[in-house]
Amino acid sequence: TTNSRDGGGYKGHDMLAPFTAGWQSTDLHPLVVEKSEGIYVYDINGKKYLDSLAGLWCTALGGNEQKLVAAATTQLNKLPFYHSFWNRTTKPSLDLAKELLETFTAAKMAKAFFTNSGSEANDSQVKLVWYYNNALGRPDKKKIIARAKSYHGSTLISASLSGLPALHQKFDLPAPFVLHTDCPHYWRYHLPGETEEEFSTRLANSLESLILKEGPETIAAFIAEPVMGAGGVIPPPATYFEKVQAVVKKYDILFIADEVICAFGRLGTMFGCDKYNIKPDLVSVAKALSSAYMPIGAIMMSPEVSDVIHFQSNKLGTFSHGFTNSGHPVPCAVAIEALKIYKEGNIPEQVKQVAPKFQDGLKAFSNSPIIGEIRGTGLILGTEFTDNKSPNDPFPPEWGIGAYFGAQCEKHGMLVRVAGDNIMMSPPLIITPEEIDELISIYGKALEATEERVNE
Ligand code: PLP
Repeated sequence: TTNSRDGGGYKGHDMLAPFTAGWQSTDLHPLVVEKSEGIYVYDINGKKYLDSLAGLWCTALGGNEQKLVAAATTQLNKLPFYHSFWNRTTKPSLDLAKELLETFTAAKMAKAFFTNSGSEANDSQVKLVWYYNNALGRPDKKKIIARAKSYHGSTLISASLSGLPALHQKFDLPAPFVLHTDCPHYWRYHLPGETEEEFSTRLANSLESLILKEGPETIAAFIAEPVMGAGGVIPPPATYFEKVQAVVKKYDILFIADEVICAFGRLGTMFGCDKYNIKPDLVSVAKALSSAYMPIGAIMMSPEVSDVIHFQSNKLGTFSHGFTNSGHPVPCAVAIEALKIYKEGNIPEQVKQVAPKFQDGLKAFSNSPIIGEIRGTGLILGTEFTDNKSPNDPFPPEWGIGAYFGAQCEKHGMLVRVAGDNIMMSPPLIITPEEIDELISIYGKALEATEERVNE
């Protein structure tokens, strides 16, 4: 048949797929997912797939955690909606704020604000940072520095922050107040003979040069994912965050940690900030906050930021920002339960236990002649297909190597994320050692088929 799901013309998972899913679906023979069970999902024909990306890096507790379902239905029966405007709110929203702020311990956080998504969280961060600097009487301190290859969302501002050209081209983005500094990908960008530490020093120096060139009095914030996700899973090189944080601090620039993927155990620590000793002023979360059972995101802010905002609000009027569903009681109730499971079930520790099997098992394929690099930590991993083991020898895009690998995984019963010749995986955090064996086995079969295709 001409059904493109068998490989060849398989384009269903390119960078833009999530943005166009609504209207492209019938053309591209979409995989229609009908139900889930643990780390598996089933399509409408009953075929079972290991969901190696946990939906979109988000169903941390898998597909049928009944405690989350119960939290939602109980809340729906009690109070399906009330807002959090004009000094009115709901108990789940207050309780979740308290729980979330207590859960984050890498730096003190004083206040939370709820959104529906990670994009809205990062958008809200920019408005907050601007308001903060206006309140401090420095309205010119507005620019935000993000990094090449980062992903921070798809609204106008969060897409601007993102460092992926596909999100900018044809949209007149990035917005002029957003700057991008180097992507911290050691394998791809290090100079001959440069160590990871030296590479990190060079990137921190480059960040400092950018700040000095623009004028520190114009730079408001720096935003970073602890491990870059959609840009291809890029863990930071040794000493990177230590050095970058020192630069940011020196020029009174706020540090926004985008924990939308890393939070709640993914890296084997509760937050990515814990793993890399990041002490942010602002934090964005979403996705696993509710294990994606309900849409919800949040930002957290340090006491220093919240004090200024509050002082300003009390004196000069409110921080005029918020969404109808900010602090919606149903997602908040689900998120409270999810946080309880992450903490009481010690999910970060569980991830730490199984991570070596996942990482080592997959990295054992690194010697494949078509793999340039396999990288990751905890339960997140990226594979990059290149020729000659070199970051500078990509396969011709028309060969569709990544897409073919993705289609082979799908054929053997596993869903992965494909972006060009980058493959990404971040399975549900509840994955068992046996399920990791299965994931590795399917990966191996798909890799073998892909190697054969390259050699054809
Ligand atoms: N930030 C990061 C690091 C992400 O990975 C994502 C989504 O993948 C976002 C922000 C945007 O979140 P959302 O898709 O919920 O708007």
